Amino acid sequence: MTEEHQRTDSEITTEVAVLGAGPGGYTAAFRAADLGKRVVLIERYPQLGGVCLNVGCIPSKALLHTAQIIREAAEIQRMGVHFSPPEIQLDALRAGKDRVVKKLTDGLRGLAKARKVQVVQGTGRFIAPNRLQVESPKGVIRIQFDAAIIACGSSPVRIPGFPQEDPRVMDATDALALPEIPKRMLVVGGGIIGLEMATVYQALGTQIEIVELQGQLIPGCDPDLVRVLERVLKKRGVRLFLNTRVRAMKATSAGIQVQFSGEQAPQEATYDRVLVAVGRRPNGKQIQGEAAGVQVDERGFIPVDEHRRTNVPHIFAIGDVVGEPMLAHKATHEAKVAAEVIAGLPARFDPLTVPSVAYTDPEIAWMGLTETAAKQQGIPYEKGVFPWAASGRALGMGREEGLTKLLFDPETKRILGAGIVGPHAGELIGEAVLALEMGADAEDLGLTIHPHPTLSETLCFAAEMAQGSITDLLPPRKRRG
Ligand code: NAD
Repeated sequence: MTEEHQRTDSEITTEVAVLGAGPGGYTAAFRAADLGKRVVLIERYPQLGGVCLNVGCIPSKALLHTAQIIREAAEIQRMGVHFSPPEIQLDALRAGKDRVVKKLTDGLRGLAKARKVQVVQGTGRFIAPNRLQVESPKGVIRIQFDAAIIACGSSPVRIPGFPQEDPRVMDATDALALPEIPKRMLVVGGGIIGLEMATVYQALGTQIEIVELQGQLIPGCDPDLVRVLERVLKKRGVRLFLNTRVRAMKATSAGIQVQFSGEQAPQEATYDRVLVAVGRRPNGKQIQGEAAGVQVDERGFIPVDEHRRTNVPHIFAIGDVVGEPMLAHKATHEAKVAAEVIAGLPARFDPLTVPSVAYTDPEIAWMGLTETAAKQQGIPYEKGVFPWAASGRALGMGREEGLTKLLFDPETKRILGAGIVGPHAGELIGEAVLALEMGADAEDLGLTIHPHPTLSETLCFAAEMAQGSITDLLPPRKRRG
C-alpha cells in the first residue's frame, strides 16, 4: 500500500483500476502510472504476468529452446559431430523453466513497486459503474475508481464430453507443467499451441499424433508456408490427421481411449496423454460487466472503439477479451493506447497489422495480407518468393527448407504482406512489419543493404525476386500474381 491511496479497512479509492495483470494489464497499469495516475492493479493469482508469463509464451519458449538444442545436437551428425543421446532430468528441466518465469514475474513486481502501482490480489468483478469488488485471500476489498481498464484475458476452450478431471487430458497449462514425458501423446488441434507443445514433447522423446478438424495445420496461414512445417514434422515421425474429428474420449486404466471420425481418420487408439488445444475463449462473462453497464457479447468479447473504450465512456478494455488475434503483443499496444487516452493524450489503436508467429521448428511467421486472403477477396498482388535453398546462411545451418515470401501492390509496389517459414522466422518478420508500417516498396527493401550472410538477406532477395533484379538465383521470367 502506498500513501497516495486512501484506504479504509477494505476500501481503496484510485484514479485507474486495471483488472488483470497479463501483458495487457501490467502494461496499462505501468503506462498510466508513468503518466501520473494513481493505479490499482488487480490480479487473481499471486504472480503478475498472466497466462503469457506464467503458463504461456515465456515457459513455452524456454522449453522450445531446449527442444531446439536437443534436435540440433542430433542433426549436427551431418557435419561429423556425434553427441550421445540426451539424458533428460525432468525435474531440473522444469526447475530451469520455472526460474525463467520467476525472474520475469519478480521483475514485474519490482517495476510495479517502483511505480507505486498498488497490486491487489484477488478476483475482481464490477458492482457499479465506478466500483469493483475484489474477493481476496484477506477478505473483500472494494475499489472506487475514476477509470477502469479491463484486461481479463481468455481461457482454453474445453470440449464437452471429454474427460474433464483426468490429469492425463491436458490443456496447455498442464502440458507446460511437464508432468512426465509420455510415450504416446495425442494433440487435439493443429493450431499454434498444439504445434508448439508437439515440438517440445517430440524432442523430449514422445511419439506425437496431431488431429486437426480443418484441411491444414494453422488454418488461416498460407498453405505454402504450412506445407514446409508439415513435411518436417512428418520426417521427424509426427503423425498428422487432417479433416479429422475426435468422436469420443474415454479414460481407462491403460490410458485415454480415443475414437476418431473423418475420411483419413486413424483407428481407435489409446494414449498416455492427450493435449487439447482447440482455441481460447474470452473471459468477458466472468467480471460482471453488466453491473457497470459494460456490454459483453454472447461469446464473452467486449466491444471497444479505436481508443479501446467500451460503451461506458470511463471503462476501457484491451487484449484477448476485446477480440482476435489473442496475442500478447497486440494487448501491450492496446494497453498503452487505453492508458494514454485516460491520461488525456491523443492515442488510438490503428496498426496496419499484428504479426503472427508459430514458434515451431521451423518457425512460421506472417504479417499483413496473406495470399489466401488476397485470393479470397480478389485483391491484386505481385509476389516475390526466395527459397532458402539458395541462401548460404541457411545451407550452413542445414536448414534449406525455409522460404521468404513478400506480397506487393502491383501499382504502387508497396509491401502488402509477408510470410516466412524457417528458423528465426519470428525474428525476421519484424522487418516486414516495419516495412508495411513505413509504406516501404519493393525497391526500398531491395536497396536496403542487408548484412551477408544472414537470413535477413532473404527479405531483400524476395523483394529482388519480385523486381526481377535477383542475381543469387535466376530471375523469375514473369511476375506472378
Ligand atoms: P488456435 O485457434 O490457434 O488453434 C486451434 C486449432 O484447433 C484450429 O486449427 C482448429 O481448427 C482446431 N480445432 C478446433 N476444434 C477442434 C476439434 N474438435 N478437433 C480437432 N481440431 C480442432 O488455438 P490454440 O492453438 O489453442 O491457441 C489459442 C490462442 O492462443 C490463439 O489465439 C493463439 O493465437 C494464441 N497463442 C499464440 C501463440 C503464439 O503467438 N506463438 C502461442 C500460443 C497461443
